[in-house]
Amino acid sequence: MLKIGFVGWRGMVGSVLIQRMIEENDFNYIEPIFFSTTKFGQICPIFGTNIQDAYDINKLKKLNVIITCQGGDYTDRVYNSLRASGWKGYWVDSSSKLRMDRNSIIVLDPININVIEQSLYFGIKNFIGGNCTVSLMLLSLGGLFKHNLIEWINSMTYQAASGAGSKHMIELLNQMRILGNIVNNKNHAKSILEIDSKITKYMSKLPIKNFGAPLAGSLIPWIDKKIDNGQTKEEWKGNVETNKILGFYPNTIKIDGICVRIGAMRCHSQAFIIKLKKDIPINEIESILKEHNPWVKVIKNDINYSLKKLTPAAVTGTMSIPIGRIRKLSMGKKYISAFTVGDQLLWGAAEPIRRMLKILVMS
Ligand code: NAP
Repeated sequence: MLKIGFVGWRGMVGSVLIQRMIEENDFNYIEPIFFSTTKFGQICPIFGTNIQDAYDINKLKKLNVIITCQGGDYTDRVYNSLRASGWKGYWVDSSSKLRMDRNSIIVLDPININVIEQSLYFGIKNFIGGNCTVSLMLLSLGGLFKHNLIEWINSMTYQAASGAGSKHMIELLNQMRILGNIVNNKNHAKSILEIDSKITKYMSKLPIKNFGAPLAGSLIPWIDKKIDNGQTKEEWKGNVETNKILGFYPNTIKIDGICVRIGAMRCHSQAFIIKLKKDIPINEIESILKEHNPWVKVIKNDINYSLKKLTPAAVTGTMSIPIGRIRKLSMGKKYISAFTVGDQLLWGAAEPIRRMLKILVMS
């Protein structure tokens, strides 16, 4: 049995990964060893084994595969020393640290199993989970990518608090609670203008240590660092990671847009404007999309279906990736719109990594 080391399993992505592995009986085929940067020496609550020190290179060296959901700082601190020690195992990472490295493959097997298999054949050892919006976009539009029908995509995102981490989710809930308390049994008979002016007053007093601005009752049109061309790093990833996942060198599909943080908990949504390479009827586009993979669900462009099936509330905690609002745009016959929603902790983070581990175990 392969010895698999888990680092970062206590965090948000890590715990969703472990939960999915338990659901799929993945632990039957591996020997798991749990590591932590802080809780080593304690007993692992999942399997009752001793938690090991995640910085102990000698222990890490004995593993066939290391799965880390710990973050880029950990990768920075450990990866090079581990390779320098002669370790030849597989490194599977949810952080972006090694994503664009030329010796790394970004994994999303329903889209790029051919790239993954080829790289395994050529001895590549680093397999990295992609950015959450990129993975969800590729799965929702997989059919159009597969049939080489896309000229460019403008993607406007509506990203959940969970993408920023657990502290951010709690801050959002605290902001919501403070605003929600303004309307209670005693004052809900007050005029809406009175309530609204109270909300405006409280808005400037909300806790914003993590987000830097109120998110409840508002939004934040900026995610991650600024890069030189005026994009944010999150917006930059849309183009470079998509092309890398698809195995395109140099980048051939243009993707750009604005990434926005909204007050959803763990589902990212994205509105696309797509320029197709040719004019195709909508029913044909819908068939191409739904035939691509078992998780994408084409939603009828209609109010009832959109409200019932195309919202973060409907999708959270599920593996489904609904895509709706598909129609031709007034700009011309090659232009379509679409709107998709996906759980960014499942297909956006943990699931591609879980499936990559399975590929390694089976290969
Ligand atoms: P996280 O929840 O902050 O967890 C990271 C680590 O923090 C844990 O493994 C744990 O490590 C430590 N930790 C400290 N206090 C904790 C507590 N009270 N509960 C649980 N863990 C605690 O990080 P994350 O959001 O899962 O992200 C991990 C990596 O995945 C990052 O590189 C991130 O960019 C990437 N990623 C995240 C998402 C997302 O949606 N969040 C999506 C794609 C990729 P020790 O056991 O060593 O203490």
